Amino acid sequence: MNAAKARLEPRDRFIETPLHAQIRYYKEAEGMAQRLAEAMDASVQKVERMNGRTFLDPPKVFVCDADCFFQFSTMQRTVPAGHFMDSVFMNDPELRRKEQQFSMAPENFLVHELTHLLFYQHAGAIAYMRTPAWFREGWAVVVSGGAGAQACSPEEAVRHLLAGSSFDPAEEGSLFRNRTASSYALPYPVFYRQAAMFVDYLRKSDQSAFQDALHSLFDGDDFQKAFEHAYGRPIASHWLNFKAGVQMMAVPKHLER
Ligand SMILES: [Zn+2]
Repeated sequence: MNAAKARLEPRDRFIETPLHAQIRYYKEAEGMAQRLAEAMDASVQKVERMNGRTFLDPPKVFVCDADCFFQFSTMQRTVPAGHFMDSVFMNDPELRRKEQQFSMAPENFLVHELTHLLFYQHAGAIAYMRTPAWFREGWAVVVSGGAGAQACSPEEAVRHLLAGSSFDPAEEGSLFRNRTASSYALPYPVFYRQAAMFVDYLRKSDQSAFQDALHSLFDGDDFQKAFEHAYGRPIASHWLNFKAGVQMMAVPKHLER
């Protein structure tokens, strides 16, 4: 299944939820669709508030079984949710599994994907894809309260970091070779958790600079330049402080005071 074909798949088998015309579902996933429809308004508000921007178009959400998810999103059947172009796809069986196994609710995954979609709507496809994946994923994990990183604790992420395995905060981002977990030989949950911790660090170190940088990205600016301009120094220069700050977390529990 390639992206061009997925885009042209007819979507007329999807049924509208009574609560939200923008949330549609395959009948196999009706219960999940109803649950997400109930959470939709609060999810949209949360994403808009954290990003300081509103959606340009009402978000379209498609709630699927595993086969339908694969067919329309082009993502693997084991992925719980995904953003593809102007739509969000939710994979009912995998969302249930993540909730059972890690207590990460489907509503959190909805917020994660809506965060991607809002960015995509404002920046446009090219600027969105050019932004380093670690930032896009890290921010979506932060906004969603951890969705995507549920299988990796902060302590485990730090252990990988101190052992020299992490993403590269200085990378430029590329339309054609955007680096993600496998590029750094990191398991996905570790990549997501490390990215979220660093994004959260950047945000907490200067909230107004973070918002300025975010809005520059929404306006289509280059990633490294947007952060350097907003913070007055390159993003990579924050990395050493970040690492020094999280090192404490690798201290064995019995030595903690
Ligand atoms: Zn994501």
